Amino acid sequence: MSKTTYPNEGMHQLVDGYRHFFKGNPPRKGFCALHAEQITHTQNPHSMVISCFDSRVCPEAIFATNDGHICVHRNMLNQVDTQDASMMASLRFAVESLKVQNIIVLGHSHCNAVDKLKDLTHLPAEISAWLGGCGAKYRGNSYEEAVKNNVLDQLDRLRKIDFIRRAENLNLEGMLFHINTGRLERFDAQQNRWGLIDTEEYAG
Ligand SMILES: [Zn+2]
Repeated sequence: MSKTTYPNEGMHQLVDGYRHFFKGNPPRKGFCALHAEQITHTQNPHSMVISCFDSRVCPEAIFATNDGHICVHRNMLNQVDTQDASMMASLRFAVESLKVQNIIVLGHSHCNAVDKLKDLTHLPAEISAWLGGCGAKYRGNSYEEAVKNNVLDQLDRLRKIDFIRRAENLNLEGMLFHINTGRLERFDAQQNRWGLIDTEEYAG
């Protein structure tokens, strides 16, 4: 089997970390006070992850990252809502100040919020306001297709943001985490299709 080539070192680190996560042996000793001295004065994350609010989807765990390697923005439905000041401030800081190599939209299976898009009536006002106002659509012939299309819709929105268009060497990625199996799918923009990340390529 041929090795997949990813666009940059940050992506290789994420995929390698994911393989450790999948095998249940995350190598990281991050997110503990042991690294406090190293990270006190600077951060140099290679990627920004936009994830759903769902408690079962933890990007730092899925990619087995160390402190300071990724910055994460979370909201229900992993939306890129250009009217959301918090989202836009995080994006701009990540792209222009932190100069991340990758922005990853991370959707997930069993996303209750995607299902709710079909009918927003009878939801609490705060939830229907977000789901109805962020521009998300239930698009597709099946639930899985709708989840994947939601990720692709967010990538389209990212591509239209002026400071993202201007950024050099910035890679945009769509991924889907399968909660029930631990598998991770990646959208291959060149081949225009989704495919499971091989969990064995860099065993070790
Ligand atoms: Zn979700």
